Formats: sequence, C-alpha cells, structure tokens
Amino acid sequence: MISFNMDEVIIILSEDEDPCCDTALNDSSVLFVEVKENVVQDRPLSAQALEEDLVVTFSKRAEVLPHARYDCPLYPFTRAEYVKSGPIDSNHQFCEQCFCYVCDKLASLCPLWCVNKECHCNSHQRSGTWSRLRNSADLGHLLAFDFSLSDVDSKLQLAERLLGSFRKELQVEFSCFVRGKMLSDNNSLRPHMNGLVHDYTPVYGCVTSFLNKAERQEGKVAAIMSLGAAKDFSSHYQPSGIVLSKCPKANAMEAIRILLQRVMVSVQRLMVMSDLPSDFIHKLQRFALCLNMPVTVGNTRNSLCVRPWDDVLLVSVLKGQNVTGIRKQRSKKDILAEPISVVLMRSELLQSQCRYRELCRYLCVVIQTDNSTLFKAMRDLVALFMCMEGDFSLALSEVSIAAPRFSPALFRLYLRIFETATAPRVHISPQTPFDLPGAEWGPIQGAVPLRRGELVKFALRVQRCCAAVNADAQCWSDLLTIVNNPRDSPSALPEPGPEFLNDAKTLSLEILTQGVGLWTSIQIPKSFIEVNPDHALLLLVTAALMLRILSGPLSPMLHVIQNFKDNPWVLQWLLQNLSLYDQDSNLIQSIQQELGIIGDQASPIPLEHHSPPRPSTSPVVWDHTYCSPVSVQTVCPKGAVPAMIVPT
Ligand SMILES: [Zn+2]
Ligand SMILES: [Zn+2]
Repeated sequence: MISFNMDEVIIILSEDEDPCCDTALNDSSVLFVEVKENVVQDRPLSAQALEEDLVVTFSKRAEVLPHARYDCPLYPFTRAEYVKSGPIDSNHQFCEQCFCYVCDKLASLCPLWCVNKECHCNSHQRSGTWSRLRNSADLGHLLAFDFSLSDVDSKLQLAERLLGSFRKELQVEFSCFVRGKMLSDNNSLRPHMNGLVHDYTPVYGCVTSFLNKAERQEGKVAAIMSLGAAKDFSSHYQPSGIVLSKCPKANAMEAIRILLQRVMVSVQRLMVMSDLPSDFIHKLQRFALCLNMPVTVGNTRNSLCVRPWDDVLLVSVLKGQNVTGIRKQRSKKDILAEPISVVLMRSELLQSQCRYRELCRYLCVVIQTDNSTLFKAMRDLVALFMCMEGDFSLALSEVSIAAPRFSPALFRLYLRIFETATAPRVHISPQTPFDLPGAEWGPIQGAVPLRRGELVKFALRVQRCCAAVNADAQCWSDLLTIVNNPRDSPSALPEPGPEFLNDAKTLSLEILTQGVGLWTSIQIPKSFIEVNPDHALLLLVTAALMLRILSGPLSPMLHVIQNFKDNPWVLQWLLQNLSLYDQDSNLIQSIQQELGIIGDQASPIPLEHHSPPRPSTSPVVWDHTYCSPVSVQTVCPKGAVPAMIVPT
C-alpha cells in the first residue's frame, strides 16, 4: 500500500514518464492515493489475522487526480493518429478531472472539445500531430524560433508574454495606418491634394517603445523580443495614397529599414556580449534567415552570422593553437573573418575579462570584412594590449608597426604605462580618446616599470619616426619630466663637469643623427651611460629637444622648458648649444611669442641661474645671445657638429 501526505501529492503525467521508474506506476497518469490518517489501526487484530501476510483493515474509494483525457480511469479512450472530424467512440465523454491535452484546460472548459475539424477530445500524446498542436499552443510565438517545450524557461515565457501583448497593440496601430485618414477637401495648406493619408509614425513609435523595453531585458529575453518584433513589422507595407511627412518614420518602407537595422545591431551585440548558449544563437540565426528583409537593408541581413564564443576555430585561435585563422575541414576551408563591429565587441569583452593575450592572438589573425581603416587602427593597439598583459618586451618589439601612426595622446599613454607599470582601467578602442580623462589606473599584474634607458630609447625612436608625436609639445614635456625627475633619485641633479657636458653633446648628436626618420634601434655607448646614467639620459633627451627646436617652432615652449626648473644647468647647456646653430633662435622667438600672449603671469623657470648678464628684468626682452658664446666655443667649436638632420 502506498500512503501519501496530501500536501505532498505529485501528479504524474504520462508524458513525463521516466523509463527507469516502476512501470506499474507509469501505465497511467493517474495515481491512486490514500490519505495517511485513514491507515491508522482502529481496532486490535485477531490472532488469525496477525498470522496472515496481508490484512485489509480499511478501504476507501481512491481519489482521482487531474489527468489527461486519454488517461481517464472512468471513461475508455480510443487512440488514433489524428482524427478531427468528430469524436471517436466515447472520446467526447469526460469526468470532472479530465484535461484537454492540447489546451491544458479542464475538458469542460475546452472550447474545441467536439468542434468539427478541431475535436480536441481525440488528442493524445502518442500522436505526433496532436503533440505538435499542443506544442504550438504552449509555445506561441516561441514555436517560430524552433524551441521545444523543454527549452522553455521563465525567461522565454516572459519574452513570449511580452511579444503577445505587443502583437495585439501593433495590429491595432497597423490597421489604423492601413485605413488611413481622409485629407479634408478644404485643406488650406494643400488645396490640390485629396484622398487618404497613410502616416506610419504611430506604428514606428509603437515598435520603438517595444524595442526600448526589450533592450532593458536580460540577453535571451531581449533577443527573442527584438527578433520576434522584427518578424511582425517587417511584413508591413505602404498602401498607395498620400505620405504627407518627409520624415522617414512616416513611410513604412523607410521606417522598416531603420527599425530592422536597429534590431540587427542590438541582436548582434547580444550574440557577442551576453553569454547566450551556442544552440540558442543558432536558433536566432535560423529565425533571422526567414525574416522578410527588404533589399534596402543591404549587408544588415548578414549581421547575425556571428560565431558563438565556443566556435572551434575561434577557440583554437584564442588559445594560440591556431595562428593562421584558417581551419581545413575535408574539402572546405573555414576562415576567421568577421565584420569590424564584431571585432570591436570581442575586443571590448576580452578586455573586460582581462584576457589581453587572447585578444592579441585574435587581432593578429582575424580578417576584417568591412572596414579596413578602423581595423588597422584596432590592429595597431596590439602592442598596447601586450602592455596590459604585462609583457613589455613583446610590446616593445610589436610597437614598431604602429609607432609611425601614433597620436600624441597614445604616445603619452605608452610612456606612462612603461614608466609606472600601471594601466588605465578602461575599455580601449581606436575611438577612445587616449588621454583618458578621469580614468582609474591600477598596477599591471606581473609587470615591472621599464628601465629608464629603455624608456628613453623607446620615446626617442617614436619621436623620430612619428611626425605627430615629434610636433607635440606635451609629448616632449612628458619625456622631459621623466628624465628631469628620475624615480628613486633626487629631483635636482648636480651639474657635471664641463668635460662631461662637452662629451655629452658630441655623443648625443652622434646617437641621435643615426637612422633619423626610421624605426631603428638607438645605441647608447656604455661608456656614456655607465658613470652618470641619469645625467646622460637627461642630456640625450635635451639634445633631441635641441634638434627638434632647430627644425621649427614648438608650442607652447614655456611649458616644455619649465621641466628644467630643478636642473637649470641643463637649460643653460641647451641654450649655449642652440646659439651655435640657430642665430634666429626658434626657441627665443617661441618664448617671446608666448610671453606676449600670456604676459606677466609666466615665471617659468628661475632665469637667474642662466649664467651671463641680463640687461633687463623683463623676460620679454630676454635673448639667447646673453648666453656666454665664448665659453661654449672653447668646448665646442662651430662646425664640429654635422649639419642638422631635422626629424620630420
Ligand atoms: Zn477523466
Ligand atoms: Zn482543448
């Protein structure tokens, strides 16, 4: 005997049969149960009864729980594959607990129980046709996505429900649009026009507000809602008649094109950015193939051909097992080619998950299909992502490709990353403004700051192969800040002897004038850097600045030379050497110009340190010729330096 507490009764429906269960229970969806309290013994058993194996002490008619009609214990059911012309035998009869298999309602409430050409009373679960009918009733709009009942969870149910109410609302708006409005005969604005006006704007508004609602939902729900809506509105048409407004929303065909593009963009984003399972993505793709797409949407029709993240080729590229982006399958070749929108989104997601190495592998291999300029700019960021990964040496070898195309802000970003081994905690793309105002910076795991010699070499190499960086005063200023205030050293460096200063000039110019304009390595002789590395690097960069000044104006110059405020002897060295080659003095002209603009507010550097006589206290008339040319000439005669090769 099986006994149950009534609170724990389970209705076993035969469609959910588990093959490993007791077959005796599975023959029917009906479970005969008895209430526990009825089992209590109410009288002592006789000795004879105690000797028997089984004794019936109480009996009661079993309760019949809700069941499908074909499982009814009271009325026999006759099965047939699919008969809908009328009830077979006594199939139309039902008890109080009989349910319609198709509608999932009490048989007494089924509106199609015995209706000709419907006849739900004959339905049962072993007929494929009746099962499909039941599924379509249960799945509603989800059936078009090829979902089965087992796929349906609360998210899909929500999407189905919202789509259902949207469809009704849309139907009302569209009918109204098709009926049109009569333009009154005495229309003073357009007296020559008569007839029906069809304005799609309210329908457009209805779809837009539903798509807005969809985009606020979780990934699965949003995708089903958006594509489901697309199926509905894409079948709309523009009736012949008057379209008064020139606005694209007023014309059905133009509005549909705009709405479809919006849906495709948002579903594509969901496919890449949310964690939709791949079989779900495939269902969306098959559904989208059946959409009625006007030719005017162009490439949009292909925008959902997105590889799921677990795609074999994509995974093997990300893991570094495939470095070609090509996978051969028998006679077919699978090539990792993606539109730029997908490339940008994958980059965004991989960055948010700190998977920089995988991102670099992907960018090195993927082929773009629609925007080579933007893709090239994305590909140029590989070295930056290697920095984020903490692999500075690989980044330095990779950076040469992109360096000639650096923007000043990107150069300064690299400088800060290399110098501090920290990185901004933001998503970076070619459209990012690289000065990253307000971005939070944090340490790069496993990275150590680049040695200053390497950092200076990197900066000087970029300076001479990238015109934009070379022309930018802020880039020079950032580099000068680094060499004027070396980490772990006092900010003011003592002035070295004249011999060192003289050698520094000769050596610096030799180093800097080799391979100008090219991404060639910069060789700093050991003898130069060994004794006073901080001094050597500072003078090397200052010499580079001198070459830059000789090549043309650099503005704002005051901002640049302000970096020498702790080491005025370097500025003196710069001015002395400049005066040898530049009688017109770009530097002084620039400074005078800037002072003319900013007036007395400027007190950039302690000018009193700049040796020789100053005829006036006004900086406006300060002139480079006040530097002592005699002392300079003794250590560096004119002509000892090759004609300036000006970096471009
Ligand atoms: Zn029944
Ligand atoms: Zn029914």
